[in-house]
Amino acid sequence: MSDRRRLYVMAALALAVAAGCAALVATSLVTGAGPSLHVLHVDGRRIGVVEDPEEVTKCVESMLAEARTVWPADIEVMSTVECTPLEEGDGDPGEPPLSASELSEKLSSTLEFSAKGYVVRVEGKDVVALRDRAAAETAIEEVRQAYLGKADKNGVRVKVEQVRILQQIEIVEARVPVNSLKEPEEAKQILLRGTDRIALYTVAKGDSLWSIARSRGMTVEQLRRANPQLVGDRLQIGQTLNLIVPEPYVNVVSVETVTQEVAVPFEVSVSYDETKWPWEQVITQRGVPGKKEVVLEVSKKDGREVARRILSEKLLAQPVTQVVVQGSKMIPDLGTGTYAWPTRGSITSRYGFRRSGFHHGLDIAAPVGTPVIAADSGMVAFAGRLPYYGLVVRIDHGGGKVVTVYGHLSKILVKQGQVVDRGTVIGEVGSTGRSTGPHLHFEVRLNGETTDPLKLYPAS
Ligand SMILES: [Zn+2]
Repeated sequence: MSDRRRLYVMAALALAVAAGCAALVATSLVTGAGPSLHVLHVDGRRIGVVEDPEEVTKCVESMLAEARTVWPADIEVMSTVECTPLEEGDGDPGEPPLSASELSEKLSSTLEFSAKGYVVRVEGKDVVALRDRAAAETAIEEVRQAYLGKADKNGVRVKVEQVRILQQIEIVEARVPVNSLKEPEEAKQILLRGTDRIALYTVAKGDSLWSIARSRGMTVEQLRRANPQLVGDRLQIGQTLNLIVPEPYVNVVSVETVTQEVAVPFEVSVSYDETKWPWEQVITQRGVPGKKEVVLEVSKKDGREVARRILSEKLLAQPVTQVVVQGSKMIPDLGTGTYAWPTRGSITSRYGFRRSGFHHGLDIAAPVGTPVIAADSGMVAFAGRLPYYGLVVRIDHGGGKVVTVYGHLSKILVKQGQVVDRGTVIGEVGSTGRSTGPHLHFEVRLNGETTDPLKLYPAS
């Protein structure tokens, strides 16, 4: 039962008892019993002065009767209630006796009731108590079920082969304070997390794991343990974090058989056609991935996978090979062997190692729009956009033996397959792709390998 519900019950109880006690006092006045002041103690704590101990007994009895209608019928008063004659010097002289409503209020806030409960004992330690054995068994069963894998819509089937709580658990009958009795769901949370308390935090702008942990008196390591779903340091605004580090009383290990369908990649078969240029490619048969059924054995501890192995694989659908016809026509030797400087500007970065890694070309800084020319005659093997290079032109000067590359252009003025002469304007300097300012990235490849472009210019 939640705390709120229990409070409500206690309040209702207090009201009912207050009415009952008022009636009792009236009766005692009519019968003419003389006032003899007594001091009331509950569990050794002085509560106040009463006129008649009988009044206290009746009030406790009526409270108990009322409690029996809400709590288990075997409920008993746990607290020690004592009334002793008021002696001189005890309390203030002239202390007014408790009124009937004061008495019932004080008693309802101090009296503890006990009932027969079923305590879940883990490795000999009492952890949580429930009203009946069935509720305790339900809680333990829910703990066993807590982490089991579920089938999802992608055709994954899960069969639980084994699930076991590592610790020794027993259910023991005992008298327990009624307000310590928990519902199965609360008991499950306590067994799995060490508490049924929930504390959440919503990530705001500027938060980091470190700042959140520090503001809550936690370490980043604790915050991570409370949120096993976190990977790396990245947080998203609005994301909810758990602030309670789980301290489980029990660990659950399970073995599941997971059956799932997995795609089988298709193969690609390439045939060559000497009548087509290398950039001409035709797919004559589109590849289709196949499908296989994989059966896995997955072992988990507290829901986290610790091991997996493949039990079997069955091919459900054969993949269809992709068939590609690739042009292999040799680009004729068009180069003259003497090279023109590709643009007007100054070298800002040479070929070779630099801080950011190996630089495969030569950087020539020039204003945006400066013409870029073909270093030698050849055929445009590529003209378009590529990662890193941005707008780029690649010229093959003959059979792939010498290829020049012009990157970061702002404009391309030639087309793939076009034959260009040495000195033909092929584009304009720009800063496209990964570039920090306008420049030409000029690259030379000999038989596929980059080389220092300056080697082509022996005179310079
Ligand atoms: Zn460069």
